[in-house]
Amino acid sequence: MSNNTEKKSLHFIQSIIEEDLHNNKNDSRVHTRFPPEPNGYLHIGHAKSICLNFGLAQQYNGLCNLRFDDTNPTKEDVEYVDSIQEDIKWLGFDWEDRKFFASDYFEKLYEFALILIKKGKAYICEMSAEEISARRGTPTQPGKESPWRNRPVEENLDLFKRMRNGEFEEGKYVLRAKIGMTSPNMHMRDPAVYRIKKVDHHRTGSDWCIYPMYDWAHGLSDYIEGITHSICTLEFEIHRPLYDWFLDHVIDTKYRPRQIEFARLNLSYTIMSKRRLLKLVEEKYVDGWDDPRMPTISGFRRRGYTPESIRNFADKIGVAKRDNVIDVALLEHSIREDLNKKVKRVMAVLNPLKVIIENYPEAQTEELDAVNNPEDESMGTRKIPFSGTIFIERDDFMEDAPKKFFRLAPGREVRLRYAYFITCTNVIKDENGNITELRATYDPASKGGKSPDGRKVKGTLHWVCVNSVFQAEVRLYDRLFLKENPDEVEEGKDFMSNINPHSLDKVIAYLEPGLKDVKAEEKFQFERLGYFCVDKSSTNEKMIFNRTVSLRDSWAKIEKKK
Ligand code: ATP
Ligand code: MG
Repeated sequence: MSNNTEKKSLHFIQSIIEEDLHNNKNDSRVHTRFPPEPNGYLHIGHAKSICLNFGLAQQYNGLCNLRFDDTNPTKEDVEYVDSIQEDIKWLGFDWEDRKFFASDYFEKLYEFALILIKKGKAYICEMSAEEISARRGTPTQPGKESPWRNRPVEENLDLFKRMRNGEFEEGKYVLRAKIGMTSPNMHMRDPAVYRIKKVDHHRTGSDWCIYPMYDWAHGLSDYIEGITHSICTLEFEIHRPLYDWFLDHVIDTKYRPRQIEFARLNLSYTIMSKRRLLKLVEEKYVDGWDDPRMPTISGFRRRGYTPESIRNFADKIGVAKRDNVIDVALLEHSIREDLNKKVKRVMAVLNPLKVIIENYPEAQTEELDAVNNPEDESMGTRKIPFSGTIFIERDDFMEDAPKKFFRLAPGREVRLRYAYFITCTNVIKDENGNITELRATYDPASKGGKSPDGRKVKGTLHWVCVNSVFQAEVRLYDRLFLKENPDEVEEGKDFMSNINPHSLDKVIAYLEPGLKDVKAEEKFQFERLGYFCVDKSSTNEKMIFNRTVSLRDSWAKIEKKK
């Protein structure tokens, strides 16, 4: 039936689907949907849901719709509608001609409400939102019935139509389902179905002044689209009886969408609520929704993540039934793993220290061969210029180096990658004692960085040749929150107090000349430093690289020390 489940055991949603297929339920159709509300950019949690919904459809030869759940006009915007589509496509999924909007169904949803009213299963209530809530009771105490609960059907129909016609002010009436006030499930206590909202909608304009509640719109939209498996996150489990109640009272076919809940993705060091992400954007803690520190899909993209790395991550973490927190290091591992084999390794120095090689013939330069990716020979080699003056990383030199420091120190020999062995002979300082320059000698017999006589050097350094380098801005990004759980705060503070003040550090780096004409989104490994990606705003005049991820997890070390 499926082509890639042989080896892996099925997760619980796959098991449900296979059982439904086995029983020929819904004529063995599999039809899922991804239903974002266009009130923010998509984040990595949504990516999980996209991979799941589109992935299941692919796996079982089914279909997956994109449906904008746009029933709350006050917070929604076309900017979000556009970004959501771009992000799903970038992730590698295709809804083909099945892009829908819950707002397309407003008329149909209204008619369904008329059915409910005619069956005596809904009534127009005149209590205010506060009164309704005050009379709802608690899970252990029944609520009180609304005095309007037994309004005659005709009157309900009339008032509902007039609500639609805009005759009443906001809050004057609500349409409520007539279910009962005693269910231990509070969502079942005569829940609201329609409310008056005199606001324009980004798609239907001023056509409507009543808008359906989420529970009403959601399940019935699934029904309208012929969805078979309506996958959502755990917080909707408690809504499922209502979802089913609505369907049972307005639909007379055997076919029903089946709601299945799974645990939402939570990531350590990350917040994922759209409301909070919006706060970070609006209060300018970050540079927009696609700031490379944001856990949004567009943020990850700008940071240099690939769609494959996100899909692999979603696949690896699986589908859980209980809430849990996934270590963000797993996501970082996933991008390292993907880029390791894919991208060229080049040399860049972020914090330069000049080295003058005194026995290298003055005015000589040569072109040395460098391997583009030792993991993949087919990526070939390139020439890099070398001369008697180079930059190395300041961190790669130590004046009073301990024995275990395998980099450069006075009198010690190291390999310059793809170039030569050099030995540090002298340290030059300014009047304040700061090191300004090193002097060294090289061994001409060690060309290519190969030992001429079997003698070993422990350290291999990256470098760039001073004559041919060029400069670019490099943005060193780090995690946006300091705490594994950003909600762990001191009394009276909120998650904002856990923002990492050093989540972005900009430096001017020196790069090997071959990087001069790179394009936005191109990705590289800077040897020994990490993976970097050309920012979307980068130009030939002002090149900007973003650090996607360092080569190793530097946070793991910090945590071990604690
Ligand atoms: P948020 O809480 O971030 O505002 P939401 O659930 O309100 O998210 P929607 O636009 O309604 O956002 O979500 C669209 C779909 O994505 C829903 O089916 C929802 O269940 C799913 N989804 C949202 N967040 C996550 C998450 N963290 N992990 C998995 N799926 C998620
Ligand atoms: Mg939602």
